Amino acid sequence: MLWLERKYLSMCIAHLGHAKWKNENTLNHRCPYCGDSKKNQYKARGYHFVVEQNFVYKCHNCGKATSSVHFMKDHFPTIHRDYLKEWLTEQGVKPKPKKLLSANEYKFTPQQDLLNISVETLKAVCWPAWDKIVSREYLQNRKIPDEKIEELWYVNNSQYLSNLSEKYKDRVLGNDPRIVLPFFAENGELVGVSGRAMNDSPLRYLTMKFLEDVPLIYNLNKVDKTKTIYVTEGPIDSLFLPNSIAVGGSDFKKLDDSIKDNAVIIFDNEPRSKEIIKKLKEVIDLGYKVVIWHNKRVNGIKDINDMIMDGLSQTNVLDIINTSIFDGLSAKLKLTEYKKT
Ligand SMILES: [Zn+2]
Repeated sequence: MLWLERKYLSMCIAHLGHAKWKNENTLNHRCPYCGDSKKNQYKARGYHFVVEQNFVYKCHNCGKATSSVHFMKDHFPTIHRDYLKEWLTEQGVKPKPKKLLSANEYKFTPQQDLLNISVETLKAVCWPAWDKIVSREYLQNRKIPDEKIEELWYVNNSQYLSNLSEKYKDRVLGNDPRIVLPFFAENGELVGVSGRAMNDSPLRYLTMKFLEDVPLIYNLNKVDKTKTIYVTEGPIDSLFLPNSIAVGGSDFKKLDDSIKDNAVIIFDNEPRSKEIIKKLKEVIDLGYKVVIWHNKRVNGIKDINDMIMDGLSQTNVLDIINTSIFDGLSAKLKLTEYKKT
């Protein structure tokens, strides 16, 4: 079905270098199999064209030749999956009704079966942040450590994120370029993303949650629960600390008891914010250890990223944090002093 292949190839365009339809039946772009010319970034020698009733792909640099449907499968698995769904519908093939499982089988059904979103899905929709100059430079300017940049993603148009999950398929997500921070469950499944706008979009963070019953906690899949866990509000701040997670907001109540004993909760440094003081009190009462910023070197600096931008090293910040941890009564006393700073 030529029109259907054309429709789905068009969805790949945003993620291909120098892609454009030369005419209705010819799509040209840089070849993602060989990377095309390393010297000349304008060279685009990959072509989709029509042979009989289908599109085929051929690269005039590396010689790769395959069907365009296979090309989508190789580079855009999500788009390919959607293509197959629509193709099946067009063929008049109804999706198979789900087989009823016995109660026993239900017990062992891993969550992946419900959702099945992984890094592969991200790859289909976003670029690795390191691979694109615009995102790499943006993150390096914010002094994010290189090895952390490699864990982040970039999307040049937010709307593209709607392809990540059925739940967001018809949602309007805007067209801003964003840094995409993925949230994984402990089993490695992608449970949500947070997209930080790289422009001055009024929506600074666009957060998408794919599963209702799993709390979004950044880096939860990688943290060592037997050691001190630093817990920040924003994922970006957590990138500067070892063994850290972020709750993506200030709702620390979503942390479960397996984390509580080793957690150190770090709010932004805003002694004048009534809301932050109130939240600090709450978590102290719940028995958490907290950071109360009392070191003069960070006076007036709002968050960890700003502290780094202000010239402190990651080690400086960690030292300041480790000498600012309080709990129980001493935390309450420190909080009273802190409010007056
Ligand atoms: Zn090629």
